[in-house]
Amino acid sequence: MMSHLISIGFNNCLQCGSFAFRQSMLCRVCENNLFNSAYKPDLFESEVNQIPCMTLFRWQQDRNRILNRLSLGLKGTGQKAAWCYYASCVVQNWLARETPPQNSVIVPCPAVSDRHDHAYLFAEALSQLTGIPLIMALEKTVEGPQKNLTRRERVFRSGYQFRLRNNVCEKFSRVYFVDDIITTGATVSAANTHLRALGRVKAISLIIRR
Ligand SMILES: [Zn+2]
Repeated sequence: MMSHLISIGFNNCLQCGSFAFRQSMLCRVCENNLFNSAYKPDLFESEVNQIPCMTLFRWQQDRNRILNRLSLGLKGTGQKAAWCYYASCVVQNWLARETPPQNSVIVPCPAVSDRHDHAYLFAEALSQLTGIPLIMALEKTVEGPQKNLTRRERVFRSGYQFRLRNNVCEKFSRVYFVDDIITTGATVSAANTHLRALGRVKAISLIIRR
């Protein structure tokens, strides 16, 4: 009962507060504004630190207030339905551009103590929509968020962020590394350092902010 009461306050559009709340966590108008301002189909595929990546939304300085709210609203473990929605938008673009090779695998960016957080929910939805299996190939080594670090500190620390799990030694034709947002690319590079032992890495994120 209590959790139901608490959740009432969140059941409105993240941007304008309208109660016409959709699976995207936005109302129809704000959802349209988001796609009009941040969805760039011709930039869906790009490269980050020489690693190929696929991204639905592109963050433009000072222009994407909705994207800002959305990226915060999607954090944590409670937004499964919204991640299913955004994953389906990603899959639509993805499968229009490539057929994932047989024996591909999806690897979420790991959270502290393997919490099933936003990156996991996104990866899980992508896995369900494509039939590509999800494995938790990486685990986190350094605790604590990156957001207070400078760009330099992030890059320095990035190599130590993850390690491969001991029980993962199979080879795959493609390893899709999934995270919610790419900023400096340090996380993608760190993941690639370890995952390339399993196969060719391609990153998937909802937002790119570079
Ligand atoms: Zn709205």
